[in-house]
Amino acid sequence: IIKICDLHKSFGETKVLNGISLDIRKGEVVVVLGPSGSGKSTLLRCLNRLEQPTSGKIIFEGQDICAAKTDVNDVRKRMGMVFQQFNLFPHLDAVHNVMLAQEKVLKRPRAEARRIALKELERVGLAERSDYYPDELSGGQQQRVAIARALSMEPHVMLFDEATSALDPELVRGVLDVMRELAQGGMTMVVVTHEMSFARDVADRVIFMEGGVVVEDGAPEQLFEHPKSERTRAFIGQVT
Ligand code: ATP
Ligand code: MG
Repeated sequence: IIKICDLHKSFGETKVLNGISLDIRKGEVVVVLGPSGSGKSTLLRCLNRLEQPTSGKIIFEGQDICAAKTDVNDVRKRMGMVFQQFNLFPHLDAVHNVMLAQEKVLKRPRAEARRIALKELERVGLAERSDYYPDELSGGQQQRVAIARALSMEPHVMLFDEATSALDPELVRGVLDVMRELAQGGMTMVVVTHEMSFARDVADRVIFMEGGVVVEDGAPEQLFEHPKSERTRAFIGQVT
């Protein structure tokens, strides 16, 4: 569903991605690991065109999304993203946060947007909190609203960039459970996380990045139990 070919990204003199090539199949859950500064966020941001790659290609559902004529909004409709910060609108309750982009971007009628918003809030376990404002919700609940908001656009791929890193430990599980269910439902997902148990249990494939390149790419058992590279071994030793 996504094919990345020799992707490079620099910020001025700083080379952040140095030739990433990856294929992501439909329904696959790919977890991306790597030390701070290795380019994980930049990779995800290139995928949904929050960053313009310096060179290389990203083919998404048959379309080169780096091409000048590509409609970035059309790409983002099909590729949902969830960040470490939830970025909810503080003056809107949960259901209206989930309705907003549906109305603005997809031009869905209010009633339909509301119906879908309530359905997605139910999916993330927040049916009872639909009229709560962000400051009345825990961090984990706010993050689940952000996930519902992304899902309401009916994306074909979901990108998660450290979606649980800003949460208190006791709130992490609820968000991971939602992500796990999404994976089991067949969603194609690219997940940057430090949650090794999620990577082990849920990932079809784990990628280890360092210095803007993919150092290792394999099944979770292989990567965790028999890493090929010394760098991967050292990293996994540190975090587990
Ligand atoms: P972390 O685990 O800390 O989130 P990461 O793997 O996500 O790290 P990136 O955020 O992709 O790493 O950043 C990789 C490198 O790119 C860093 O050295 C960072 O300083 C640099 N970088 C990222 N965004 C920009 C930018 N907009 N301008 C300049 N440099 C940037
Ligand atoms: Mg990052």
